[in-house]
Amino acid sequence: MTTDKTIETADRVIASTYSRFPIVLTEGKGCMLTDAQGRTYTDFVAGIAVCNLGHAHEGIARAVADQARRLVHVSNFYYTEPQIELAKWLVEHSFADRVFFCNSGAEANEAAIKLARKYFKDRGLPERFGMITMEGSFHGRTMATLAATGQAKIRKGFEPLLTGFDIVPFNDLDAVGNAISKETCAVMVEPIQGEGGVQCPAQGYLEGLRELCDREGLLLIFDEVQTGMGRTGKLFAYEHSSVTPDIMTLAKALANGLPMGAMLAKEGVARAFTPGSHASTFGGTPLVAIAALTVAKTLLEEGVLENCQRVGNYFKEQLLSLMPKYAFIREVRGAGLLIGLDLACDGTAIVKQCMERGFLINCTQEHTLRFIPPLIIQKKEIDALIACLDSVFEGLSV
Ligand SMILES: *Cc1c(COP(=O)(O)O)cnc(C)c1O
Repeated sequence: MTTDKTIETADRVIASTYSRFPIVLTEGKGCMLTDAQGRTYTDFVAGIAVCNLGHAHEGIARAVADQARRLVHVSNFYYTEPQIELAKWLVEHSFADRVFFCNSGAEANEAAIKLARKYFKDRGLPERFGMITMEGSFHGRTMATLAATGQAKIRKGFEPLLTGFDIVPFNDLDAVGNAISKETCAVMVEPIQGEGGVQCPAQGYLEGLRELCDREGLLLIFDEVQTGMGRTGKLFAYEHSSVTPDIMTLAKALANGLPMGAMLAKEGVARAFTPGSHASTFGGTPLVAIAALTVAKTLLEEGVLENCQRVGNYFKEQLLSLMPKYAFIREVRGAGLLIGLDLACDGTAIVKQCMERGFLINCTQEHTLRFIPPLIIQKKEIDALIACLDSVFEGLSV
């Protein structure tokens, strides 16, 4: 089929929840993608911070193929080794004591919301079901997680919303303090807002949230669906601060593109889930768990985090060097390889022009270019993108 024909068919039979770019991607290797017409692209999107180890990773492909021949799925009625190994790894490398596995970021956050409510019900405080979340946040598209999300465009059309979410400005501790009531059970926040335009926490913000939660007896939930698994140069973004949450959610990069979500919690909180409280048919299947276990080990064993820090810093420096040349660049933000370039103009046309020049990038909140490449990306690929951006920007400013 020609690309035009493929796209025509897609637009007829696929639910139109996305406005897609008119390319059909057929293959990938590392940071490169190839389309149906044989054109190649350097990938600075990585499936939205998902393919942290790049495309067609040999170790993951082998582990998944071997596992597929042995055992793909049973039920969580039974124990399976890859899931246990993965949970053990996550517990050993984080603040948490227990892991619940599911299939997406939204599901991980659903689990976190349910756990927080159940925790207070079990303690004889059923009136405490409310949660404070932040403006500009993104927590998912299910009915609970969209109610938690601090962006009107995500919630619009789906009212009545699930009640119990109080949304306050990001980076404003006073606003959180003022919003706490007898009904509050938890505060949920992304350590860096991804979809919200790569918004970083102010110095002391996460620590301040921890103090507030401790003082008021509330749970602190970090949504690390986008920031987790090395994206910011640490395994988890909370490691850039001096605090740990009570609950953390993961998904995107967990299995490098196979669908997996996880909710991690400290023992005292996790105990509120008992047999029958919550479940997921596909959660933590051997196939997906073996992929995630391979990701986890590779991140540490092959210097991926170090590369992310080093190349991430270089990337930011290079973007900053463009700033004096173009007045419409407002700010460079981010950590590791979660980087935002905030513009005073709409970024949509820039994304399109970069694609035509062989670079896939993303734009969020209309005016923030977001760069979230595989964490294995190298300086030479950064240099090529910077040259591309420079020439696209030059065209804009004339
Ligand atoms: C992507 C994302 C989600 C939702 O994940 P899905 O897998 O699409 O449900 C939730 N929270 C954050 C911070 C995200 O970036």
